[in-house]
Amino acid sequence: MTEILVSEVGPRDGLQSIKAIMPLAAKKAWIVAEAAAGVREIEVGSFVPPSLLPQMADTAELVRFARDIPGLNVVALVPNAKGAGRAVEAGVHGLSIPFSMSETHSIRNVRKDHPAMLAEIAEAARIAREAGAHFAVGLATAFGCTIEGSVPEDQVVRLATAAAEAGALEFSLSDTTGYADPAQVRRLVRKVKAAVGAEMLTTLHLHNTRGLGLANALAGLEEGITTLDASLGGLGGCPFAPGASGNLVTEDLVLMLNSMGFSTGIDLEKLLEVRSILIEALPGEPLYGFTPDAGPMLDYNERIAR
Ligand code: ZN
Repeated sequence: MTEILVSEVGPRDGLQSIKAIMPLAAKKAWIVAEAAAGVREIEVGSFVPPSLLPQMADTAELVRFARDIPGLNVVALVPNAKGAGRAVEAGVHGLSIPFSMSETHSIRNVRKDHPAMLAEIAEAARIAREAGAHFAVGLATAFGCTIEGSVPEDQVVRLATAAAEAGALEFSLSDTTGYADPAQVRRLVRKVKAAVGAEMLTTLHLHNTRGLGLANALAGLEEGITTLDASLGGLGGCPFAPGASGNLVTEDLVLMLNSMGFSTGIDLEKLLEVRSILIEALPGEPLYGFTPDAGPMLDYNERIAR
């Protein structure tokens, strides 16, 4: 049975994109409940200055808390080397830095052009290495940009190669803006794998902005992708990509993977119960997904046993 890692990014990507600030106790309850449902990796927050994203102000405390949960890989996003320092100080198992393939998006988002970002990646890689933490680079806006429009695939390949030379241990292709289509996913996964080595590109970070999230995930699986980011209730999007709301929905993704016979280790029924924590802690916040409303198919348990 092929194992697929479903990496829950809701506490970071979800919560950073909404106005409400989830209380620390609710974040902790969410993380505990997802881990109990079998989720093995959670991106618990982001080490950005609290003045920019007050929703993420308690990330260090969450990292310290989540590290004590057995079997859980605790990861965090960092915008730069300074954030990497704070992340390893808090004790993350892994950290990832977004590297926007659209230079305009990069300058607008973090005020750094591509050479400046590569310098940050090299420094963050050094900090992670010295702390024994895993270091990933998220190739953001890889499928298109809300400012520049299309992002040339050759540019993604060139920048991924440069980031590998700067010390990236692993890559994800990020559809920050919800522009990806399945044919494009297939093409770009192949090209980037060919450039940096197949084992280095493991992850897709997909948004469901235009409803293509699961189709894109399937295209990635067929190209050997083994990690898929998703957000419970599809919470979130990208605050810097206007209109780009809604991550791939964890509940729907787990239903698809489990019923197809992939091994995720996640108990769908338990996962669906976690949603009540979000409903209670974020009143009025829209949540997405089909499975929470429809429930699993009647023969779901037979499917997963096959
Ligand atoms: Zn995202």
